[in-house]
Amino acid sequence: MNATREPPVNALSVDLEDYFQVENFAHLVPREHWGHFAPRLTANTHRLLDLFDSVRARATFFVLGWCAERFPHLVREIHRRGHEVACHSHMHRLVYTLTPEEMRADTARCKAVLEDLTGSRVIGYRAPSYSITRDSLWALDVLADLGFVYDSSIFPVHHDRYGIPDFPRWPIADYGTPGGARIHEFPLTTFRVGRTNLPSAGGGYLRMLPMTWTWQGIAAAHRAGQPAMLYLHPWEIDPGQPRIEGMTRLRTLRCYYNLGGTYERLEQVLDRFRWAPVSEVLETTLGRTINPVRTGGADSPAPVGPN
Ligand SMILES: [Zn+2]
Repeated sequence: MNATREPPVNALSVDLEDYFQVENFAHLVPREHWGHFAPRLTANTHRLLDLFDSVRARATFFVLGWCAERFPHLVREIHRRGHEVACHSHMHRLVYTLTPEEMRADTARCKAVLEDLTGSRVIGYRAPSYSITRDSLWALDVLADLGFVYDSSIFPVHHDRYGIPDFPRWPIADYGTPGGARIHEFPLTTFRVGRTNLPSAGGGYLRMLPMTWTWQGIAAAHRAGQPAMLYLHPWEIDPGQPRIEGMTRLRTLRCYYNLGGTYERLEQVLDRFRWAPVSEVLETTLGRTINPVRTGGADSPAPVGPN
């Protein structure tokens, strides 16, 4: 490989949900109780937006529809500041626990809310907790039918809750769905040790493991001439968030370890590489136009959103 060539621009993604909506808590915090928690989403997201501005990084925000309905100003601001707004489902239900009809209704609701708020077409989707697995690949048909152009939900790893370990590791154009449709797929970043893919570049892996783990994931992508995908949640930079009681030690660790140090780690990673929204990185990587309507801009229409 030509050592002087610039590494690819990577995809930066934020799953926009609050600290009480995390999948690890789902058995302790029923969805009907979400409205009882003191929200911290706006403040945490502003910290991220300011950080992204300071390093000239733009991102895709996969927004939970429930949050968009409660914080419409935040979604508009994300869009106005030049980031891509995409869909993270409405109620954060794991795809493989839903029927195709339920998943369609939930996704369509979120998409409509986001499109009303931004005045732009929403073309990207990420499933709650990467819950598009071998058993729920039918979801890609639902997405294609609803007009999504790309999905970024497949983690090519072994995990207790998600993953398709033998799935291709880099962006794929026109992935053939079980029902015969086509959709672009941007899998989450991994690096390989022996015959095993290890998850990297985001979330708990960025928070809990030594930084070399993240560097390995990004380096593996760049060695292959591919972009990496970084993902995170606004609550991961918030050491002051209230703790949810009643979890196992492992889950407590997964949720709360190193919240105080993640912002700095994120700063380091963002500063070292170049970052863009998922749709733009896919366009460059796949060599085709996939986003007919560009994100952001002060002259975007100011559509009326739901209350
Ligand atoms: Zn999520």
